[in-house]
Amino acid sequence: MFDVIRIPAFKDNYIWLLRKGAAATVVDPGDARPVLEVLQREGLTLASILVTHHHADHQGGVAALLAHCRAEVFGPAAESISGISRPLRGGETIHPAGCDSGFAVIAVPGHTLGHLAYYGAGCLFCGDTLFAGGCGRLFEGTPAQMAASLARLAELPDETAVYCAHEYTQANLRFALAVEPGNRFLQGRAAEVAAARAGGLATVPSTIACEKASNPFLRCSEPEVAASAQRHGAGAADEVAVFAALREWKNGF
Ligand SMILES: [Zn+2]
Repeated sequence: MFDVIRIPAFKDNYIWLLRKGAAATVVDPGDARPVLEVLQREGLTLASILVTHHHADHQGGVAALLAHCRAEVFGPAAESISGISRPLRGGETIHPAGCDSGFAVIAVPGHTLGHLAYYGAGCLFCGDTLFAGGCGRLFEGTPAQMAASLARLAELPDETAVYCAHEYTQANLRFALAVEPGNRFLQGRAAEVAAARAGGLATVPSTIACEKASNPFLRCSEPEVAASAQRHGAGAADEVAVFAALREWKNGF
């Protein structure tokens, strides 16, 4: 098993570094500089890079990292990302060099069409698909695609640690409370997250159990969620219509 080191980047990104002995794997290195600083500080050699999707804040540091170290780069075959040596489409199991764990590669179209998630050792690295308390915007995919991708992730074991790529939790939970004000678990989570953020603490990772209990985008079949969505444009109570209305509502929230 590896340790996971959180590397803050840009305004609110997290780059995840998996440390096993003296070897490192990084997930979504949008910026090389903070990764290189951690590698040097911890005396680590970068062996593998996992990329979830093509947006620059997730892969913009790959070329600069490859200038410093010879790493395998896993990422979506369906997206234009320079430096990928191990193109993936979902359904594979990978064993990144320098990491003692295998990862299932899960295709999760929606935010982008080639978006991948990586699941191994009880950890899910899901980029901009599932967020703590929310989900990514639909830049390329349809609501039906994203809803199916989120449903796939929600099937993972309850205790799975969810490592998303942004610290958006507090704003996401403000929206969640507007959708589902009667959810007691959500009320408690929002209070905990507000306290953590006031203290400058990160709120990622969460767990699949926590997301299923409080993330409105995983709760589209709950009556209160469906009723709120129908007051905000959902023409029906089916899960895709509810999801689509929630996503639109959140965009303008
Ligand atoms: Zn993105």
